[in-house]
Amino acid sequence: MSVSVHRLPYVDAPDAFTPGRIICIGRNYADHAREMGHDPEREPPFFFFKPITALLPPGKPFVYPWYSSEVHHELELVIVVGKGGEDIALDAAADFVAGFAIGLDMTCRDIQRHAKQQGRPWDLAKGFDGSAPCSAIMAGSYQDLQATGRLSLTRNGLLVQSGDWRDMIWSVPELIVAVSRYTKLRAGDLLFTGTPAGVGRVTVGDQLIAKLEGVPVELCVNVCAAD
Ligand code: MG
Repeated sequence: MSVSVHRLPYVDAPDAFTPGRIICIGRNYADHAREMGHDPEREPPFFFFKPITALLPPGKPFVYPWYSSEVHHELELVIVVGKGGEDIALDAAADFVAGFAIGLDMTCRDIQRHAKQQGRPWDLAKGFDGSAPCSAIMAGSYQDLQATGRLSLTRNGLLVQSGDWRDMIWSVPELIVAVSRYTKLRAGDLLFTGTPAGVGRVTVGDQLIAKLEGVPVELCVNVCAAD
């Protein structure tokens, strides 16, 4: 029996990385919270999971889900967790960062809206196959992350999202503290850290290019129709 393994390349190393879980943070930039109709006060961060089958490695097309007519891009800094831990203290949290990447939390906004109205889970809206495109991983510490700049996303050559991860409501160490209170973090977990303002529709034929300034971290995704 063969088991399919979802893997990500490294930016500057020949071996591939096998992620553990995909943990996504909601509403972590004030400007995006406002555009979604929420008050960006520092409510405790909330998170949800995408299955590992959501991972879309670089070079693979994004297949538009047949049951949605409003798929949105959400540009996010992705943190790679380097070691296991639970109930992690704030002064130790930065040591859990082993790398970073740029990713897209692809979201069927129409399905999510309906799920919210019905009090149902978000899985079909955010956990479908290929809903987590991710760039190659840049191995590095939290200190190394400081040397990076803004994250940006273009759609067909036009800038649609741009943000500075330093503007996150909850910092990377604070997110690690918060998530590890509820679930034991493991080496290889990916943390999608929330999106800045500018989320918007994608359509079949689009080309999305996400970048993290200051490092060779880039992701190019072509949007294609389902068979
Ligand atoms: Mg998101």
